[in-house]
Amino acid sequence: MKNIFGITLKDLEDFFIENKDKKFRATQIFEFLYKKRIFDLDKMTNIGNNNKELLRENFDFSFIKIKSKQEDKDVKKYLFELKDGNFIESVLMYHDYGISICVSSQVGCNMGCKFCESGRLKKVRNLEAYEIVEQILLIEKDIKERISHVVVMGIGEPFDNYENLKDFIKIINCNKGIDIGARHITISTCGLIPGIKRFMEDFNEINLAISLHAPNDTIRNKIMPINKVYNIKELINILKEYEKKTKRRITFEYIMLENINDSNECAIELAKLVKDLNCYINLIPYNETENIEFKRSKKVQILSFYDILKKNNINVTIRKEFGRKVDAACGQLRANQMGRK
Ligand code: SAH
Repeated sequence: MKNIFGITLKDLEDFFIENKDKKFRATQIFEFLYKKRIFDLDKMTNIGNNNKELLRENFDFSFIKIKSKQEDKDVKKYLFELKDGNFIESVLMYHDYGISICVSSQVGCNMGCKFCESGRLKKVRNLEAYEIVEQILLIEKDIKERISHVVVMGIGEPFDNYENLKDFIKIINCNKGIDIGARHITISTCGLIPGIKRFMEDFNEINLAISLHAPNDTIRNKIMPINKVYNIKELINILKEYEKKTKRRITFEYIMLENINDSNECAIELAKLVKDLNCYINLIPYNETENIEFKRSKKVQILSFYDILKKNNINVTIRKEFGRKVDAACGQLRANQMGRK
């Protein structure tokens, strides 16, 4: 049975029409679930008993569970237990511009990036749309506040789970649903080109972030196996098309790994690589983990890298650090839960 929190408004409308009811019923249900946050059918006034019965027979209204939570002042990290006993995690961050949440899209990940905990643990399965939506609903309930920004940058490669990701985006972006503006939603990919192609057909205003992490194929091949399938040239070409079609600015994420990708030469090469794109680069101080040998770049080197990009007129920021105390890097909490540390 499908979970109700993974159903788009359009699919719910089709369901009611098929069942000889009015399309409008779907909007009513969406308003109870997402505006009033009433999840219990019995508490939905002005929905007839026949309709409630029909919904009960066809949809599951259950939730995944918050298994544990770690908090620091401006960050909360949640570990969720799924119905089949798998674990995923989300991170909530308080910014001056609002509250953002970083959600997971898969249990584990098959992309195998050498610096990442999630890759080390391999993909177990895709998340269903409802399992991504419920991360938001449960955290909002926990903090008693609404989340303003969503990034799909937790465990998993979203474009390796495209159909469910698509439904998830529709549900949270729907103005009768969770109603998070397109420009407040960001999807981050390691560069799966077929996914980028589909994404630019389906969505024009959702933000796209690319985990680049290297200025050339030699380095990228060493740390990101996906580069052997879709190399940097192909990636930049599709991003040029993306830019032409959507007119949106692309974000590049660049983890600073000591003596791997952080030299001044790398900065110069990176500036050349992206100079014709409307983009900005987010330099990310690497979150070291016990299981992986990479080291975070020295602060002076991060600043030198930053300066070179600036001098070359590249928009660049150094990511504010959240959650070092709470194992906040992608997959770390889950890795600990699974006792592999
Ligand atoms: N698969 C997608 C989204 C998940 S990874 C992608 O590759 O973009 C989310 C981001 O966290 C990526 O940029 C990833 O490279 C980064 N990341 C993974 N482990 C990290 C760590 N230990 N420290 C800092 N960033 C990390």
